[in-house]
Amino acid sequence: MENKRYYGIDVGGTTVKIGLTENGAVLDKWSVPTDTSDGGRNILPDIIRSLPGPAAGAALAVPGAVLPDDTVNRCVNLGWGVCRPAEEFTAVSGIPCRVLNDANAAALAEQRLGGGKGFESVLFVALGTGVGAGVVLDGRLRVGARGTAGEIGHLCLDPLDTAAACTCGHTGCLEQYASATGISRLAAQAGYPGLTSKQIVDAAAAGDGKLEAVVDRACDALGRGIASACAIIDPETVVLGGGVALAGEYFRAKVQAAFDRYAFHACLGTEIRLATLGSDAGMLGAALYAMDRP
Ligand SMILES: [Zn+2]
Repeated sequence: MENKRYYGIDVGGTTVKIGLTENGAVLDKWSVPTDTSDGGRNILPDIIRSLPGPAAGAALAVPGAVLPDDTVNRCVNLGWGVCRPAEEFTAVSGIPCRVLNDANAAALAEQRLGGGKGFESVLFVALGTGVGAGVVLDGRLRVGARGTAGEIGHLCLDPLDTAAACTCGHTGCLEQYASATGISRLAAQAGYPGLTSKQIVDAAAAGDGKLEAVVDRACDALGRGIASACAIIDPETVVLGGGVALAGEYFRAKVQAAFDRYAFHACLGTEIRLATLGSDAGMLGAALYAMDRP
C-alpha cells in the first residue's frame, strides 16, 4: 500500500518538535533537544535517529530565511550558515525532504487548520522574540523570490528612532515595538525595566494605566504594519500567533482598532483573528508542506 505518512519537523533553537501525520491527522508526536554545538552538525542526525520508520516525505521548519530552492540562508539560533539540510536529510534517511521558514510553516497550518480555517488568503503574524510572518494566497504558501515574503517585522516604521536599533542593522523596525522583546523595551523606556511582555500585557489588562499606554503603543505599531501589508497583499483575514498573542482578546481588539485607524478604506473590514494551534503550528505546517510538495 502506498505510504501516505509524512513527518513535520519544527527545528527550534532549544527543542525539535516532530510529528508523524497521515491524511493530515497526527498519529504521534515527540521532541528531541536541539544540539547547537559544533555548528549544529548533530541536529539532523539526532532527528533522523528518532524517526520510527520510513515515510512518503518530510519537511523541516527552521528559524531563518529559506530560498525557494530549499537553500537555508543562515539560522543563527541553530548555528547553521548557508546550507542545504534537505539534501543531507534525504541522503541519510532516504526520505524526500523539503525546508521552509518556521513562521511560513505556522502560516500554512493556521490557514488550513487553525485561526484562518475557511479562508484561502491569510496573512499570519507571529509575535515572539521577533515578529515573523507568512503569506498564504489562494490556498498556497507564497515564500517570495528570496524566501522573505510577508516579513513585516522589518517594515521600517520610524527610521529616526535611534533607541530602536534592530538586529537586522536598521532602526525603527516594527519588531522593535511589537515583539515580546520590543514590548519589554518600550516598558523599560517608560520606567518599568525587567518585565516580560506577558507581565506587561497582564498588568495593562488589569488596569495599570502606564503599562496600558505601552501596550497601546505596541498595538498601534502592529496595526500600522498590518495595514501596510494588507494594502499590498489584501488577504481575506489576518491571524495573530506566537507567545504575545496568547494575551488573547484584549490584545487582539487593540490591534484591530489600530488596523482600522490606518488601513486604506477599501481594506476596512479585514478581521484580525487569533491563532488556535499554539506551539504545534510549525510542526503541523511542515507536515502539510511535505504533503503539498512531494
Ligand atoms: Zn529590522
